[in-house]
Amino acid sequence: MIQPVAVIGAGPFGLSTAAHLRARGIPVRVFGEPMVSWRGHMPDGMLLKSTPAASSIDAPQPGHTLADYCDAAGLRRLVTDEDIIPVETFIGYGEWFQQKLVPELERVRVVSVDRATGGSGFELKLDSGELFTARAVVVATGLSGLAHLPAELAAAAPDGPSPTGPLSHSSQHPDLGRFSGRELIVVGAGQSALETAVLAAEAGARVRVVARGRGRVAFGAPPWRQPRLRPESPFGRAWSLWAFSYYPHPYRYLPADLRHYLVRRVLGPLGAWWLRARFEGNVQVSEVERIVRAETAGDRTALTVRTHAGGGRELTADHVIAATGYRVDIAAMDFLGHELRTELAVSRGTPRLGAGYVSSVPGLYFTGLPAAASYGPVMRFVCGTEFASPRLAGHLAAAHGG
Ligand SMILES: Cc1cc2nc3c(=O)[nH]c(=O)nc-3n(C[C@H](O)[C@H](O)[C@H](O)COP(=O)(O)OP(=O)(O)OC[C@H]3O[C@@H](n4cnc5c(N)ncnc54)[C@H](O)[C@@H]3O)c2cc1C
Repeated sequence: MIQPVAVIGAGPFGLSTAAHLRARGIPVRVFGEPMVSWRGHMPDGMLLKSTPAASSIDAPQPGHTLADYCDAAGLRRLVTDEDIIPVETFIGYGEWFQQKLVPELERVRVVSVDRATGGSGFELKLDSGELFTARAVVVATGLSGLAHLPAELAAAAPDGPSPTGPLSHSSQHPDLGRFSGRELIVVGAGQSALETAVLAAEAGARVRVVARGRGRVAFGAPPWRQPRLRPESPFGRAWSLWAFSYYPHPYRYLPADLRHYLVRRVLGPLGAWWLRARFEGNVQVSEVERIVRAETAGDRTALTVRTHAGGGRELTADHVIAATGYRVDIAAMDFLGHELRTELAVSRGTPRLGAGYVSSVPGLYFTGLPAAASYGPVMRFVCGTEFASPRLAGHLAAAHGG
């Protein structure tokens, strides 16, 4: 019997990779909950920061863009840079893409992946109890399990972050209505922090954003103010963005320090242009030098901060949301067997990938966020599927297709 390829993940990257493998006639089994990061871990009412041109999931055949979905669903066509995408529309698009191109998706969790005994390939265990062998594995688990909580905040949540406790992570709030009438601190300065703050304020909370660094809370320029003399990219007009978007090939040859720095900083903390008007006047801001610690004080949570003037200050609220992002760490991908994890070449917790997104373990591939340290910041976004999926599928077909 021909062993299938296993794709673990049914977000944009897993679905796109699976569609490309299927189009090459490679048997695949695809696992995961479709679009669960978008449905379960982002707030209702959220709008995408990426433009329609940067929000299509790459497919091997035409007819599967976001605009095609709008046509099929009878929605207004979202195409220009000024069209803003509601998260509900994007979830609908992902599910439509899955039904059309990856209909055999199995809504099952992969519990473990190990090398197959006595042969090539990998043995996978599913939470249905089934064991099977795959000739290759694509890890496309995206944001799952990688929510990052800095140590100085973690101390206020000894039992872990929770929406009902003193402190939570922004990924735990599909519904911000629970904070109506309450006082809230949101830590962070990225789009997720600023949009969480706005949505909570609009739901009736009194909200303060606490951001590290002077001038850190900022918003991008609207499309009509983008500099005309720079090349266009899905993220705006700039030479650097153009290179990262269309030429990620040489990224993995840059020095490790630079690669990791760029993944954090390029397209990093900056609110979307359309959020500014809803933010200003509705959300208070404290820009501080650093957060020293967080602790509970009765039924309040207190942040001790160091101000830019050099002094200390205490900020309190009913609840603190850490919008402190995601951090790739192979150690946190506990479905990968211990032996595989120790065998993998890593750089600061992220897998080191070669051509075609293959790791140092032949047959084991990573795409999406875990590939960003090798292929650049574009891998953190949906439009990264355009570069990643055909190349990964092409490499896998050449190495394991027969
Ligand atoms: C608040 C927020 C806003 C964002 N806005 C944008 C935006 O506007 N534009 C943009 O391009 N990007 C945006 N992003 C980034 C976006 O989330 C990622 O680009 C995208 O979701 C990554 O897709 P993925 O397929 O790699 O992973 P995910 O979408 O995270 O999907 C992970 C999949 O893996 C599955 N899975 C995990 N573990 C297992 C397991 N053990 N077994 C089986 N299945 C498993 C899950 O069920 C799920 O199907 C945003 C991120 C956040 C947090």
